[in-house]
Amino acid sequence: MHVFHRVITGVVFSVCLSSVGAAHAFELQWFGQSAFKVTTPGGKVIMIDPFITKNPKTPKELKDLTKLGKIDLIVVTHGHGDHVGDTAKLAEMSGAKVAMNADMGHTFGTLGIVPYKQLIRFNKSGPIKPLGDGITITMVRAEHSSEVLHTDPTTGKKSLHPGGEPAGYIIELENGFKIYHAGDTGVFADMTFIGEYYQPDLALLPIGGHFTMDPQHAAYAVKNLLKTKTVIPIHYATFPPLKGTPEQFKAALGDSPAKLIVMQPGDTQKF
Ligand code: ZN
Repeated sequence: MHVFHRVITGVVFSVCLSSVGAAHAFELQWFGQSAFKVTTPGGKVIMIDPFITKNPKTPKELKDLTKLGKIDLIVVTHGHGDHVGDTAKLAEMSGAKVAMNADMGHTFGTLGIVPYKQLIRFNKSGPIKPLGDGITITMVRAEHSSEVLHTDPTTGKKSLHPGGEPAGYIIELENGFKIYHAGDTGVFADMTFIGEYYQPDLALLPIGGHFTMDPQHAAYAVKNLLKTKTVIPIHYATFPPLKGTPEQFKAALGDSPAKLIVMQPGDTQKF
């Protein structure tokens, strides 16, 4: 059994994940906003929404992309810049496959942001196993928007392109642990389906408000729809409009049995 402690405003949150054995530990590193590096129990590395070099919350020492080491897969939730981030550069450096909604994939492919041969274009409820049998990635709904604002690298001219539909992901690891990365989303009733069908062990949920759920909406989603055992708040404090705080999220969760883990940008959480 792994026990984690996080201290926030004098309160200690303890998290027990008895279903995950020490031999199957995996790591989750947060870069701020929605950017994560997942190192799976089998040693695969998955980058989610890798907004790093221009992320105001990413610690300076983590902005050197070469230090990320090997990358096996990049997944992108939607076309906004604070989620696409360094996808093109990381794809070029690593040769990793890049998974995203099928329509945005065409935008990336035709504009040459990521070569077609590296793109995995897929859509909701069609699970994929791009890293072999052990890991399953399933795209789920997100209540948001998606467009790709592209800057031509030679002329500097900006142009807008289709970004398909925004998404969240269920990432099931080799040990059966399921991470729900919600992407950018408002609350929606089908989160009940996500909770019931996938039963994620951990939910990474935006709480900043303005563009996504605020702490109150996110807490409603946890308590009434997802019913996830463990939650980590994301997508807050990066830019001035994202005013929601983990303290407000904790208060809104109230007596919910969900365990709250509050990470700091750069932190690595072991499970
Ligand atoms: Zn967005």
